[in-house]
Amino acid sequence: MLALKKTNNIIRELEAELGHDAVLSSIEDIYCYTYDSNCTIKQTEHPIAIALPASIEDVQKIARFCTKHNLPMVARGAGTNHVGGCVAKKGGIIIHFSRMNKILSISPENLNMIVQPGATVGDIQSLAESQGLFYPPDPSNLKVSTIGGALALSSGGPRGLKYGTAKDYILNLKVVLADGSLIETGSNCSKNVTGFNLTQLFIGSEGVLGLIVEATLKLIPKPQANKILLAYFDSIEDASCAVNKILEAGITPSVIDLLDKFTTQTIEDFKPSGLNTYKEAMLFIELDGSKSAISEDEAYIVNLLKDAEFERITSEQQAQTFWTARRAAFGAISKLKGNVITEDVAVPRTQIPTLVKGIKQINEKYNLTASIMGHAGDGNIHPNYALNFDDMDEMSRFYKAKNELFKLALSLGGTLSGEHGIGFEKANYLNCALGSRVYDISKQIKKLFDPKNLMNPEKLFIE
Ligand SMILES: Cc1cc2nc3c(=O)[nH]c(=O)nc-3n(C[C@H](O)[C@H](O)[C@H](O)COP(=O)(O)OP(=O)(O)OC[C@H]3O[C@@H](n4cnc5c(N)ncnc54)[C@H](O)[C@@H]3O)c2cc1C
Repeated sequence: MLALKKTNNIIRELEAELGHDAVLSSIEDIYCYTYDSNCTIKQTEHPIAIALPASIEDVQKIARFCTKHNLPMVARGAGTNHVGGCVAKKGGIIIHFSRMNKILSISPENLNMIVQPGATVGDIQSLAESQGLFYPPDPSNLKVSTIGGALALSSGGPRGLKYGTAKDYILNLKVVLADGSLIETGSNCSKNVTGFNLTQLFIGSEGVLGLIVEATLKLIPKPQANKILLAYFDSIEDASCAVNKILEAGITPSVIDLLDKFTTQTIEDFKPSGLNTYKEAMLFIELDGSKSAISEDEAYIVNLLKDAEFERITSEQQAQTFWTARRAAFGAISKLKGNVITEDVAVPRTQIPTLVKGIKQINEKYNLTASIMGHAGDGNIHPNYALNFDDMDEMSRFYKAKNELFKLALSLGGTLSGEHGIGFEKANYLNCALGSRVYDISKQIKKLFDPKNLMNPEKLFIE
């Protein structure tokens, strides 16, 4: 903790650099920036101030200022990540990109869009779709999720199965490094093999290498139509086996999300939407493409999954109701005990049934209130744990379960995170997941970009 006088001097100097209204430092403001969607954060870990840059030059000034004063700098978009990614674990300055939220240009000819880091994924999608184009990555909170946060985590969402995640729709980045220099990682061409692929190095780097200040996104043509199909099963094992049956048949829906009965029931209790709650599990399937291809695929799936009970969605309004219900799962579960932690393991698709069975066993063994849901089509399952953080016994059982969950995923050839990242919540496990050689190389890369370790310290790596 910096002495009060020194802290005040730092705040005054930062205000002189950026302007008084571009720096927040009241106790109330600091408190609001002590959290992100991960609730296990200690309130003692807070920033000195929040800087609100309006331009790339402002970001460069902040980086130079932090380097001069040896202050950590923590990038923040909407603050909705689940891993404590944008919390100031070692104090310093939070750089909140809310004023750099513009879409700078869209080019239907070049199939790209240039955006500032604070633009929301929802706004990017809406603008693309208004011009017959498509930006597929769709974190469920896309209305607020910023593109800077989504790129720094390579966020995905339900459509990852057919379309991939944020890493698949990026051409070029402008990044401010710790010393205040500005680099461009690639080019706006759709093909580019000129030197190392630094663009992809920054995707998923969680703000520990540099500050993304502009991005050129790749767009694709918008599919002609889409249709939702709900398939209900007598067991979660049957539902997870059905995922591979669909894919093995050569059909790639845009979405195959799995929700267990506990999830559908909790959503219905939170906001009744007409989901069937007497079946043990549901697959939320979305097909897209030409209308005739959708009809053919739909008929094929209904014929293929003889053990499922289907509900076909016929109106756009009904489709929106079910999408809203699907996206409400996290919020609904958070209502049960006051707190929720969502995990994010991913395995090769063929291992989904084994993973789901294992998660069920772990949750039962530790007597935890948890839902099983996720983007089963791409092997990415999110067990959501409803928790009371004041219940020490429950928390201790949760941490044991989390340990076993990660071991299980790794033993199945899987990973610790499909789309939420590592942050500080999983930093303890990174060495084990990567292996010590790759872990050491990754730390050396971090040191090359950020020799003083000022960029989002204590995230990804244990110091
Ligand atoms: C209800 C809910 C549903 C969600 N659903 C999904 C989902 O379906 N799929 C999914 O992948 N995720 C999901 N998430 C997780 C998360 O919201 C997303 O990953 C989201 O894209 C993060 O965006 P953000 O603006 O909130 O980033 P933040 O939380 O503000 O930041 C995330 C990380 O990025 C870094 N960062 C932010 N901006 C920059 C920048 N300009 N330069 C460098 N680093 C930066 C931060 O330091 C931090 O490490 C969900 C979260 C919630 C609360």
